[in-house]
Amino acid sequence: MLGLPQVYSELAICQVPLIVNLINMDKELNTAKRNVFDKLIHDERIFKNRESLSTSYVPSEFPHRFDEINEVANILKTAFYGSRPSNILVYGQTGTGKTAIAKFICKQLKEKARKENVKIHTAYINCKQTNTPYGVLTNIGKTYSAEWEKQIPSAGWRIDKVYSSLKEKADENGGIAIVILDEIDTLVSKNGDEILYHLTGLNSDLDNSKISIIGISNDAKFTSWLDPRVKSRLGEESLTFSPYNAPQIEDILIQRARTAFKENTVDPIVMTYCASKAAQEHGDARKAIDLLRIAAELAEREEREIVTLEHVNNAQNVMEKDQVKSIVITLPIQHKATLASIILNQGSKDNSQQTTGEVYGTYAKLCNSYNLDELSQRRIGHIISELDMQGLINAKIVNLGRHGRTKYIDLAVDREQLLGIIQHDHFLSDLIESMTKLQIFTKSMQSRLI
Ligand code: ADP
Ligand code: MG
Repeated sequence: MLGLPQVYSELAICQVPLIVNLINMDKELNTAKRNVFDKLIHDERIFKNRESLSTSYVPSEFPHRFDEINEVANILKTAFYGSRPSNILVYGQTGTGKTAIAKFICKQLKEKARKENVKIHTAYINCKQTNTPYGVLTNIGKTYSAEWEKQIPSAGWRIDKVYSSLKEKADENGGIAIVILDEIDTLVSKNGDEILYHLTGLNSDLDNSKISIIGISNDAKFTSWLDPRVKSRLGEESLTFSPYNAPQIEDILIQRARTAFKENTVDPIVMTYCASKAAQEHGDARKAIDLLRIAAELAEREEREIVTLEHVNNAQNVMEKDQVKSIVITLPIQHKATLASIILNQGSKDNSQQTTGEVYGTYAKLCNSYNLDELSQRRIGHIISELDMQGLINAKIVNLGRHGRTKYIDLAVDREQLLGIIQHDHFLSDLIESMTKLQIFTKSMQSRLI
């Protein structure tokens, strides 16, 4: 019987489930002998160098940024003659190559300085990650002294003491420091412009060394928050990285694909398509590279030999889902409660014409049963507009003739998809589940009363 040992064959028919369990156990034992990765690890079919598609990868060539790189290099070259290069402000939308090019220039500067035996120190600081004056000064200090962290604690000192230690170290070491402050606007929005005031004024306190700052920002308006002195010191030179168009992004992708993939593994139309999609999103090269990477991952997982348009379409769905998920999960509580009200209303009546009043009605009930602070209808109106801007809902104003104007609200994301995403969020899933139960309960009570 089933090739099992004698002892099993004597079992009565009513014990079949037990036998099935034993067979499964037997299978599991067999699998236990194998390694779960055996089937997964094989030679990759498509990727040659996955790393080159990661966000931290810095390529050695930058198609369509030749002029910009040259311009920055021309400003910085004075460092090799011992003069302080002008401070530079670089602007440009997301994915226009600012960060990658800044890191590339840093690397090139270091290499050349070593070769020419010139004292040039470089510091790349991402102000989203290092967003305190203390952190920024420490990072600059580390470029002068490997011992910096041993001598100066990572927190706890008064900032002016850290500042004078930095001056001391700079003069002790001499040379020119090129400090790149990426996402500089976040530093200012969090701490004000005092740190920039001090950094750009540092040169007048230094005797034996100099410092130049390259500030990078997505927000061209950020200098309007600066003190006019800081603004003029920081923006001695400025340049803008304009968004790429579709053929330019395609060139970037083709160049990157040469490093990332084995030969003839990507249908050329894939590159054109990814580029055109990214060009529609303000020329963001990162979007195009991400799309290509995910499409190739999907093809690799399916054990295909070639990446096709179908993989790109699937990759797009994955990216959209991820995007909606991260927006929903990071919403503030009141926004979540408002979104939950819209989902609940839409479910109960298949309602694509909810008014702000109806959303507010459900929201108020929800606040009541959840002990949430209840905001005014006007505030909820604002939140509805924000959810609309984030692409989660559509809110359109309709003219009702002599009844005036009203807003009709509808989900912009498929309700089922949204419910799937919500399962990853405790607060939202609790809200929806308990309110749905409450609605069912109220309905059945109502029908009994009738
Ligand atoms: P930003 O800092 O402007 O948001 P990034 O420098 O992070 O943009 O660039 C996004 C991605 O696009 C990175 O992977 C970067 O290497 C790549 N990239 C941007 N411009 C180019 C280019 N001209 N050539 C090659 N790769 C580029
Ligand atoms: Mg950047």
